[in-house]
Amino acid sequence: MNETVYDVIIIGGGPAGLTAAIYTSRASLKTLILAGQPAGGQLTLTSEVENFPGFPDGIMGPELIGLMQKQAIKFGAEYVEENAAKITGSAEKGFSVVSGSGNEYKAKTIIVASGASAKWLPLESVQRLRGKGVSACATCDGFFFKGKVVAVVGGGDSAMEEALFLTKFSPKVYVLTRGGKDSLKASKIMLKRAQENEKIEFVFDTEVLEVIGENAVSGIKIKNTQSGEEKVFDDVKGLFMAIGHKPNTDFLAGLVDLGPLGYVVPVDNTKTNVEGIFVAGDVGDWKYRQAVSAAGFGCVAALDVEKYLAGKE
Ligand code: NDP
Repeated sequence: MNETVYDVIIIGGGPAGLTAAIYTSRASLKTLILAGQPAGGQLTLTSEVENFPGFPDGIMGPELIGLMQKQAIKFGAEYVEENAAKITGSAEKGFSVVSGSGNEYKAKTIIVASGASAKWLPLESVQRLRGKGVSACATCDGFFFKGKVVAVVGGGDSAMEEALFLTKFSPKVYVLTRGGKDSLKASKIMLKRAQENEKIEFVFDTEVLEVIGENAVSGIKIKNTQSGEEKVFDDVKGLFMAIGHKPNTDFLAGLVDLGPLGYVVPVDNTKTNVEGIFVAGDVGDWKYRQAVSAAGFGCVAALDVEKYLAGKE
């Protein structure tokens, strides 16, 4: 067992966790980052990031994460590529975090910044073309499809929002839903907005069989689940997943209050219902899910931890 008692253990090595670590370590708090396995969060699965302030020419997601890591380590944060498997203890007695590799770490406070993972269709072609025309974030990648026809998979609010956003760039956006017209999960208002947009075309009762292309998307093969009829849409050059996200909160079950969707529910800014445990980034934010909003959330959590440890709150 590592005998060090850290001021703060940060669970998560994405923009939220690393920004929190820059702030806590720069404030001379003894900081350990459990960066995950694989480390780095969703940005490491993205190609170019064009909307993170400070990089007018864009920056590759893994490079951005690498720079954040470097900055946190420069100020003294320790960094291990391990997942949190279990948290025990309390603010009074101190917390213990056991990692997936069986190591145990002790701390006075914890920032949970473990993120949320987008769900992807379980197709080999989807895996292969991730970041090469298949994306799970229209806000991040929509711009790359200027003037091109794209498709969104899903029938919930995220799908409607992504499709509406994509109409800013694309002449045509297909929304592919596996259910029929009357079984969509999207709220009435979002659905109405999407239906009223003339660039959006709904294709109901549809399963995606394959994304066609080697290094870029050149079309999609779909099947009508009612008739069994298969079709190729060779005009589609980008495919967006909007089939839900899963917050990475399994290790918190029974300890920290989770909302109905499984996300951590902050009770007072970044504080959770458990004294000494704070939250930052997508794991506590089902709505905005941006690298820069996660980074801001991480900064705020670090400042809250700093105040808490100084006995000011
Ligand atoms: P939802 O769970 O609401 O919807 C997921 C959609 O993906 C459903 O249409 C579902 O189909 C479909 N789906 C799931 N798995 C597959 C699959 N393997 N193949 C094809 N389709 C699949 O998730 P969202 O991310 O849309 O929304 C999550 C929450 O966030 C909701 O509460 C939503 O209201 C909220 N939200 C609100 C927004 C807003 O108010 N502006 C914007 C975005 C989200 P099926 O119905 O058949 O299961």
